[in-house]
Amino acid sequence: MTLRVGIIGAGPSGLAQLRAFESARQKGADIPAIMCFEKQDEWGGQWNNSWRIGLDAHGEPVHSSMYRHLWSNGPKECLEFSDYSFDEHFGRPISSFPPREVLFDYIKGRVEKSDVRKYVRFNSVARHTSYNEATQEFTLTVEDLKTNLTETHVFDKLVIATGHFSVPSVPEFKGIKTFPGEVLHAHDFRGAERFYGKKLLMIGSSYSAEDIGMQAHKMGAASIALSYRTTSMGYDWPENTVERPLVTHFQGRTAHFSDGTQGEFDAVVLCTGYQHKYPYLPSELSLKSSNVLYPGNLYKGVVWQQNTNLFYLGAQDQYYTFNMFDAQAWFARDVMTGVIELPSLAERQKDIAAWLERQAVLPNHDAEADFQTDYLRELIDATDYPSFDLDAVCQLFKDWMHHKKTDILGYRDMLHRSVVTGTMATKHHTRWINAMDDSMERYLDGPSQDVDTGSPAAVADILAAR
Ligand SMILES: Cc1cc2nc3c(=O)[nH]c(=O)nc-3n(C[C@H](O)[C@H](O)[C@H](O)COP(=O)(O)OP(=O)(O)OC[C@H]3O[C@@H](n4cnc5c(N)ncnc54)[C@H](O)[C@@H]3O)c2cc1C
Repeated sequence: MTLRVGIIGAGPSGLAQLRAFESARQKGADIPAIMCFEKQDEWGGQWNNSWRIGLDAHGEPVHSSMYRHLWSNGPKECLEFSDYSFDEHFGRPISSFPPREVLFDYIKGRVEKSDVRKYVRFNSVARHTSYNEATQEFTLTVEDLKTNLTETHVFDKLVIATGHFSVPSVPEFKGIKTFPGEVLHAHDFRGAERFYGKKLLMIGSSYSAEDIGMQAHKMGAASIALSYRTTSMGYDWPENTVERPLVTHFQGRTAHFSDGTQGEFDAVVLCTGYQHKYPYLPSELSLKSSNVLYPGNLYKGVVWQQNTNLFYLGAQDQYYTFNMFDAQAWFARDVMTGVIELPSLAERQKDIAAWLERQAVLPNHDAEADFQTDYLRELIDATDYPSFDLDAVCQLFKDWMHHKKTDILGYRDMLHRSVVTGTMATKHHTRWINAMDDSMERYLDGPSQDVDTGSPAAVADILAAR
């Protein structure tokens, strides 16, 4: 009987799975019966962002945490598909840190060139899964959000590709209930224009805090405080930005910090991370993890230990993204089709334990990049995913982190070389700090907006002219 494969989610990870099968098909392999379920009406996952906050048009939680003015937070050369280069997609070299819309276009370009859209059921949300040990089959219940009708489908293999940056972690702070200004989680942040002239408190010390904070600076926020729990980010911040230790409590507009300092704020953004949530899975199949580079219980970060018919893609914290999801999808495909034979449970456990042991003592970000590079190398070596110079990409990550340390507002203006084509990125017509129009049209065809936005008045003029 033909193998039946179900994929939940058509973001970059789910699309990688479709692409992995398509690549095998092009090489003459038999293809399973594939169905992919996507709750939104378009593919692209986080990159298919929304202006909505809270619930979508069908009353489902809004998936994407992305915002209007998001630009790639790492060099595009680190995430480039090794079977579909940026040069191929855009027909010319572009800069190293494109805006969201440009990256979204690139992701879509690859799958639009493959004949895989036919596998995707849009507006279809996974609601419930059961597994029959005797028949080794999954029964998946899916709701069509347009008709509200549910259907069940039976699969031999199930791929979980629903991401883990959508369900906010929201800690409690004494007094925050009566804070008179705006309080929101980063998941609901859509644009920083409204923080113009405002005193902003960001709680958190990771990508979201750093990037939303600097977006707010770019859009003319009066001041930004970044509150960390354990370690400060330590960047060379602009003059209106400071780091403070954890908030102990709020009194009216005033936030009190654990070092005894305090400050008055107009708005608070909780950049406190996300939870792994798989509400459509029974607990015995559901990954419980914090945001780490190597979640336990997944062999090669992909195969569920107690049920090797279940696969997770993109479940780890991510230095690498699109190319790592690809390598995982290629690996999952080969396990599903028997091209890769899995070792015994005990051997798999030993392999997982070794990665977890190494993860536990990673001393710094450079070591983390090395760790994920080595992880990716194993997957690529095990599959026919087109190889690329992983050491060069790892070095790009380290250079990028160094650039952030030296210039947090300017690192997105740096240029890097593609390891796929060897092409050097081109200088963008406008520096990131001055680019107020992030549309693909403006990005690709200019004209430059490189004017001095060094004063709040200049920012106000630019915003008023939009
Ligand atoms: C704010 C933010 C900024 C980021 N910036 C970058 C960046 O600059 N560069 C980078 O490389 N990465 C970035 N990332 C990382 C990003 O997570 C990955 O690039 C990528 O989107 C992950 O792909 P995914 O397919 O695993 O998950 P997602 O992109 O989250 O896609 C999951 C898909 O599953 C669907 N889904 C969810 N639940 C169900 C269900 N029950 N039934 C059916 N479908 C469902 C969703 O609608 C979605 O389409 C960022 C993430 C965030 C949150």
